[in-house]
Amino acid sequence: MDLPHRLTSEVASITELPTEGKRFHDNRDAAEDEFRELRDELASWQRKLYAAGQHRVLILFQAMDAGGKDGTIRKVFRGVNPQGVRIHPFKQPSKVELAHDFLWRVHPVVPADGMISVFNRSHYEDVLVVRVDDLVPEAVWRRRYDQINQFEKLLVESGTTILKFYLHISPQEQRERFQDRIDDPEKHWKFSFEDLEKRKQWDSYMEAYTDALNRCNTSFAPWYVIPADQKWYRNLAVARVLVSHLRELNPAFPPAERDLSHVEIK
Ligand code: ATP
Ligand code: MG
Repeated sequence: MDLPHRLTSEVASITELPTEGKRFHDNRDAAEDEFRELRDELASWQRKLYAAGQHRVLILFQAMDAGGKDGTIRKVFRGVNPQGVRIHPFKQPSKVELAHDFLWRVHPVVPADGMISVFNRSHYEDVLVVRVDDLVPEAVWRRRYDQINQFEKLLVESGTTILKFYLHISPQEQRERFQDRIDDPEKHWKFSFEDLEKRKQWDSYMEAYTDALNRCNTSFAPWYVIPADQKWYRNLAVARVLVSHLRELNPAFPPAERDLSHVEIK
């Protein structure tokens, strides 16, 4: 399977990378068909992963507001057994969380054997919003890139597969999605005035994302930069990456405790 969106070298700015999925796929119907097949395949791998209880999978999503984190999670993980998948949203830290190191709230929710953890936002917020809004001194957030790499290395060396996705949208696409949230009363709850403040800081966020992606794009936990302006392509691209890694892990249902060929329940 072709996986074109893995970040393979440093970029001067992520704004050079494509946001338009339709540049990579010219047939939406075919893309949606392939996506549905991959989604079913993902669900079937997840059942084996859970049954085997040997692998741990951490999938994280970062994006600007309206970048599609929620929608991707809703679409891609439809069909999995909820018992084996935990979704963790990372919101503004609580007082207790702020009184600890920034990874303190992350470590307890990394996946256990057989489990998939999905992070909606993540520890990367601590080098993104925290950097852009000057929430800690520069010397503190600068150290965090290495600290994140060390943390992710620890997880990988303990048997975790880490897949990191940045859903890349253009400012024009964000404008349309915000407007849509304003125009549709059922989406008002998704709109916040704070999002507009962040939109004004777009360039600073792009700088912060560029550094985070470059500096934390390790061989053991690489970034995928998904062109996300077209939702149908975004879903397909994410599903392709996930399924391709699960095929490699190749979990299998464990054998019976003992030979069952003569066992009959009366
Ligand atoms: P939605 O798409 O529904 O708006 P969301 O992920 O944006 O979902 P919100 O409750 O709107 O959820 O926002 C969470 C906020 O918490 C984000 O603005 C994010 O930047 C912020 N946040 C997350 N982690 C941290 C952190 N470590 N320090 C400061 N702010 C953080
Ligand atoms: Mg929000």
